[in-house]
Amino acid sequence: MSLKPLLPGALSDRGQQMTLGVMGGGQLGRMFVQAAQAMGYFTAVLDPDPASPAGLVAHFHIETAYDDEQGLAQLMQRCDAITTEFENVPAPALITLGAHRPVAPSANCVAVAQDRIQEKAHFVQCGPISGVYPAPYAAIETPELLAAVPADLLPGILKTARLGYDGKGQIRVKDRAELAAAWDRLGQVPCVLEKLMPLQSECSVIVARGADGQVVAFPVQKNTHHDGILAITEVFEGAVPAELAARAQASTVAIANHLNYVGVLCVEYFVVDNGQGGSDLIVNEMAPRPHNSGHYTQNACDLSQFEAQVRALAGLPLPRPRQHSPAIMVNLLGDLWFNANGVRSAASEQPVAPPWAQVLALPGTHLHLYGKLSARPGRKMGHLNITGASVAQVRETASKVLALLGLPALD
Ligand code: ADP
Ligand code: MG
Repeated sequence: MSLKPLLPGALSDRGQQMTLGVMGGGQLGRMFVQAAQAMGYFTAVLDPDPASPAGLVAHFHIETAYDDEQGLAQLMQRCDAITTEFENVPAPALITLGAHRPVAPSANCVAVAQDRIQEKAHFVQCGPISGVYPAPYAAIETPELLAAVPADLLPGILKTARLGYDGKGQIRVKDRAELAAAWDRLGQVPCVLEKLMPLQSECSVIVARGADGQVVAFPVQKNTHHDGILAITEVFEGAVPAELAARAQASTVAIANHLNYVGVLCVEYFVVDNGQGGSDLIVNEMAPRPHNSGHYTQNACDLSQFEAQVRALAGLPLPRPRQHSPAIMVNLLGDLWFNANGVRSAASEQPVAPPWAQVLALPGTHLHLYGKLSARPGRKMGHLNITGASVAQVRETASKVLALLGLPALD
C-alpha cells in the first residue's frame, strides 16, 4: 500500500472526490460508510442486495456479486482505496482489486482469517512472541486424519474450517462415534476439532494497524454470548482482570504485526481455568474487520473502530484511542420485535418496534439501528451503547434497559 495519505474532501489523482469503498453491504459496512462520510469522504459499496444496510447510505452502490468482473471494475473506477466488511469476500476478488488500488486488509490476511486451519496455524506461530496459544486442536480433512485424532481432544467441538459464524457450523462431540457422525453431518468438509475448554469468560481485543506499521489497541472487551450469538459486551476497568487484559492486547498486536496486517483486526479470547486456581488466556479466532464486540467504541472512546478503519485505509494517523466512559453494549436481535411488553409472539405475527422512547429516556443510551427492512428472530437489527460516569451507573442503566426489552439481566 502506498503511504501517501488519501486526504478527505480532496480531489484524488483520478480527478474525482476522494472515495473509499467497501466489499459487503452489511451493518459493519454501513457504519464504515457513515464514519467515512462524517470525515468528508465519498463512499462506495459493492453488495448484490439492493436493500443492503450499507448500500442504502453510500454515495454509490454497485449491486453485483462479489466476484463479478464488471462490478469489481466499477468499484475500482469509483474508489481510491477499498476495504472489506466481512471475511467471506472471495480472496481472488481482493487480489484483483489489490492489483489496481490500495486494499486493506490484504487478500492474504483475509484468506488466513477465512480458514480456521490457517488461522490456528498462524496463532501457533505467534505463540512464542505473544505467550498465548489456541486450544489444543487437530485439522480434520481426510478419514485418516479423523481416525488419527488424539483421544485427549475429546470431548471437543468440531467446527467447519470455513464459513462458520455465530456458532453455526459447529457440533459438540463427546467421543469418537459422535465425532465421526458430526463430520458426516457437516458433509465431511475440512474441519478443526478443538478440545472443549473450561471457559470462565470470553473477551476480545480490537487493534488498528497502519501501512507504516503503527499499531494501536483498544481496551479489552468482556463478551457474553447467548445461543452462540454475542449478547452483551462490557468494557470498563476490572471487567477483565488487568494482567490478562494486558496479555490479550499484546497478543493481538503480535498477531497483527506478524501478518503485516493493515486495517482493523479483532481477536477473540477465552479466559480459562488454569487448573491451579487461577486463569489463563486462550486465543480463539480473529475477524479481519471491525467487530460486533467493538461497537461500544462509537460512544465510549475518542476514536471508534470504524473511524480507525477509515484512517488505516486512508493512510491517516492512528493516535492511541482513549476510553472516556465505562460502557455496556446490548445487541438488538430481531427477536425483540416479537417480544412486545415482554410477551413473546410467534414469528409469523406482525413485528412490533421495541419501546425505544422509554429506553432513550435513560441517560447515556445510544441507539444504533442498521436500517434492515424486516425483523426476523436471530437477525442482528442494531445495538444499544450505554455509557455512564461510573461503572455502577452504567450497570444500573443497563439493568433498566434489559428489563424494558425483556432480556436476561446482567450476571
Ligand atoms: P463463531 O465463528 O461461531 O463465533 P467460535 O469459535 O467463536 O465460532 O465459537 C462460538 C462460541 O462457542 C465461543 O464464543 C464459545 O462460547 C464457544 N466455544 C468455541 N470453542 C470452544 C472451546 N474450544 N471450548 C469451549 N467453548 C468454546
Ligand atoms: Mg466467535
